[in-house]
Order: sequence, then structure tokens, then C-alpha cells
Amino acid sequence: MSSQTISQAQANRERALRYAERLRELRHLIGGRWEGSASGETFEVITPIDDTVIARAAAGGPEEVDRAARAAETAFETWRGVPAKARKRLLHRIADLIEAHAEEIALLEVLDTGQTVRFMKSAAARAAENFRFFADRCESAADGRSLPADGFLNYTLRQAIGPVGVITPWNTPFMLSTWKIAPALAAGCTVVHKPAEWSPLTATRLAELCLEAGLPEGVLNTVHGFGETAGRAVTEHEAVRAIAFVGESATGSHIMAQGAPTLKRVHFELGGKNPVVVFADADLERALDAAVFMIYSLNGERCTSSSRLLVERSVYDAFTAELAERAKRVRTGDPFDPATDIGPLIHPKHVEKVMSYVAAAREEGATVAAGGENPAGNFVTATLFTGARNDMRISQEEIFGPVLTAIPFDDEAEALRLANGVRYGLAAYLWTRDVARAHRFAHGLEAGMVWVNSQNVRHLSTPFGGTKRSGIGRDGGDYSFDFYMETKNVAVALGEHPIPKLGA
Ligand code: NAD
Repeated sequence: MSSQTISQAQANRERALRYAERLRELRHLIGGRWEGSASGETFEVITPIDDTVIARAAAGGPEEVDRAARAAETAFETWRGVPAKARKRLLHRIADLIEAHAEEIALLEVLDTGQTVRFMKSAAARAAENFRFFADRCESAADGRSLPADGFLNYTLRQAIGPVGVITPWNTPFMLSTWKIAPALAAGCTVVHKPAEWSPLTATRLAELCLEAGLPEGVLNTVHGFGETAGRAVTEHEAVRAIAFVGESATGSHIMAQGAPTLKRVHFELGGKNPVVVFADADLERALDAAVFMIYSLNGERCTSSSRLLVERSVYDAFTAELAERAKRVRTGDPFDPATDIGPLIHPKHVEKVMSYVAAAREEGATVAAGGENPAGNFVTATLFTGARNDMRISQEEIFGPVLTAIPFDDEAEALRLANGVRYGLAAYLWTRDVARAHRFAHGLEAGMVWVNSQNVRHLSTPFGGTKRSGIGRDGGDYSFDFYMETKNVAVALGEHPIPKLGA
């Protein structure tokens, strides 16, 4: 670390702590009011940087969720009728405020999650972009189709489904929450948000900024708490019509079961074990850059990380040797330092999980070609496993850390078998200069999203989501409105069609 980056890191840390000072007591936002839990229970919010307590949050349960859901139900009656133009203006105002507080949001996110300032500095900009994108679609959200039939005019329209539950994970909480909340509000839904208990700070800021922008009370409600209590209560509440959930696949199964008695509509963005497939004819330098970036950025705590590297055997040794060298130069350290690539992982329990895979790799006979260390606290170095087989746990299970498993393949058919040979199917990355193969392979991949000769570049209109155990449903553009809205068909008779006379 140069003395310049040390002083920048210190300045960032001091600013983050100052911003966090006014968030030391996190309360729920219910019906426009900030409240503690009826039980008085709270939980500690800990920064993964040094495991110290930075805040206490009210621990919500069924009682708080019930009040939040009722508030959302009441607010829905007016919010659904607010003209689209007015909703649009409001959502743009929220985006303005997010942009105005970009530095604060970034630094709070670093403090709360351990993600590095290098990557978090764009978190607020991306969140604002989510609000702007859906703000501009408020006016077309209700659009439907005209389906003329003999003697009839059929037309469809879309209407907001009602109050929805949004349950989010800890990895990039601010950006992810806006990705769900912005389309819900644009559609005319009201929201009960249950943020992750390991990183609740910026959810509170988002709620504050929404109020400041003029969002009517009860339209966005935020209930803090644990998954098994607050989260569960959201999924079980009768007034909540749908659940947008981002998190682990196993949690998705629980939510589906919990929501079954009230027939919840669900939208799941779950785990991944995404392959990056590199053919020998690819631009290997760019493939290497992308492979390194897509696993070691965002602490590897990223659902779309390229955590399985499949490389054609003729270039496997050279490619993985170069990758190991690059991994050794990826910097793990103070997340407030702009020169740091990997910050501390979210929680000691998560570090334990990630490090257990280093032990598993050795037990299963793979080679730890780079990293595999936990030098201090929650810090884990950029790790590469080589000589792996697809049936090993390190190739099959989502590790959700800066850990990459490399496997060689001999031909296209084997590459496809390996790429698809996991329970997950979120994203896939494909590197080849052969155009026909690129399309053929992309069509064969069991994944919701495929990037060809590209890292994960998002275009907000495109469908985002997974297949298999990686999810149900798609987000983005109009796809989001399919979830947050009901399609209604109106059939109008244009003349006098026959009506059978009974009892005449
Ligand atoms: P998690 O499933 O443990 O928790 C996510 C949220 O669900 C938290 O708010 C938690 O409190 C809540 N929750 C837990 N149990 C619940 C229950 N029984 N009922 C209702 N809510 C409950 O996930 P995590 O550890 O916070 O996040 C990491 C996971 O998220 C990884 O698997 C990652 O791949 C996934 N993820 C997916 C995407 C995507 O778009 N596909 C994006 C980011 C993260």
C-alpha cells in the first residue's frame, strides 16, 4: 500500500464511521413511522472489517410484519391510483437523492458488507439507474395487447398485483434492493422489504431517501430481522400477494413451502455455479481478464460469478498457470483502500464455510494453485483450484467467495456436458472465435443468461434470472412487470352472438 492509498483509506473509513453514527439504532419503517419492535428485541450489526459492533437493529417478528403488511395494504388503495406520470416523477426524485448521497451509500456499504470501495463506488449510480429505468416505464407498465376475435374485441391490461414482499441478501444489498423495489413501485405495488440481517444499514438509508422524495407513507415498509422470524412472517402473510426473493436456493425452497398456504406468487433469484468456458481459439488474454474479474471482484460474493472455469485441454496448463499468477497479485486487504481488490468476507461463519472448501479441495485431490489462505479475521486470498473433476464438491457447490475451480475438457460435447453438469443454471460465459459454435453452444447451455466473449455486462431491458435451482422468473424491462402485475383480459361483444336460452 502506498502512503497515498493509506491516507485515502483512512479518510474513507473516517467518513464511513461518521455516516454510520446516525444509523446506530436501526428501526423499522412501518406506515411512514420509524418504530422499534414490540418485544424490544434488537440484534447487533457487525462490520466484517474487524468484527466490531457498528449498530443495533430492531429484530422484527410476526407482529411488526403484520403491521407493515396492513400498512402496505392500506397504501395500495391510493398508490395504485396515482397517475403514472406522478409515479414517474417520484421515482426520478428518489434516483436524484440516491445520486446526491452516492458517496455515503458506497462507504456505508463497504463498512457493512466488507465489499471494496473500488467496486462499491458505483453501487449508488447503478441503484439510481434502476430507479430511472423503471421510472421511465411507469407509463407503459399497464400496456396490454389487442387480441381481436370474430365478433369480439379482446384486450389485455396489466394491473398492480398488490402489496409484495421483497427479501434480499447481504452481498450487494443496496443495488439489489433497488432492482426489486423500483419495478414494484413503478408497477403500482406497495412493498414490505426484509433486508438481510448481516447488512441492514443501507436498506434504512433507502427507506429514508424514499420518504424524503415524497413517497407516501406505507408504500415502502422496511422490517429488519432474521429470516426465520421476520422473513418467514412476510412470506406467510395473507395480505402479501407475491414474494420477490434473492438468496440461497435452500431458502427459496423454504419460502415456497411457507408461501404455499396463501398461494404466493414467487420470483426467485438464487445461487449459481456458473461456468466460464474457454475454447483454444478464443482471445485468451481477454478471456483471462474476464475470468479473473468475474470471480475475484465483489469478494466473489456474487451470484453471477464465474466460479467454474472449463478450459480446452490444449491451452489448460498455460491458461491456468497465468491465472494462478494473476490470482496471486489480486490484493486482499482494507476495503476502504481504493487499491484493494478483495475485502473481508461478510461474516466469520461465511469465512468458515469458504475455507472448508479449501480443505475439501485438498481431500478430493485437487491442487490449490493460488491462495487458499485466511491470513487474518474475515480475509481470504484469491484462490484457484486446478486439476479438479466435475464431480468434486468444489465443482458442484456454490462457495460464494473468491474461489475458482478449473477443469480441463477435450471437445465441445464434453465442455457442454461439464457446463450443464450441475444443479444450478444461472449464468454462463463462453469464449470462442467460432461464430457457429458460439451460437450452438449458447443454445445448449442450461442457463438463464449467456455472455459470449464478454464479462457480465447488464442491459436493464434484458431478462435476468436462472434455470434449474438458480431461480424462477425473470427480472428486467417488461419481464419485471409480468411479475409485479396481473394481466387481465377484457372481452367485449361487438354484436349479438348467440346466447343459449335456459329456462326461457
Ligand atoms: P439467504 O438465503 O441466507 O438469505 C437471503 C434473505 O432471506 C435474508 O434476508 C434472510 O434473512 C432471508 N431468509 C432466510 N431464511 C428465510 C426464510 N425461511 N423465510 C424468509 N426469508 C428468509 O442468502 P444470503 O446468504 O443472504 O445470500 C447469498 C445467496 O444469495 C447466494 O446463494 C447467492 O448466490 C444468492 N444471490 C443470488 C442472486 C441472483 O440474482 N440470482 C443475487 C445475489 C445473491
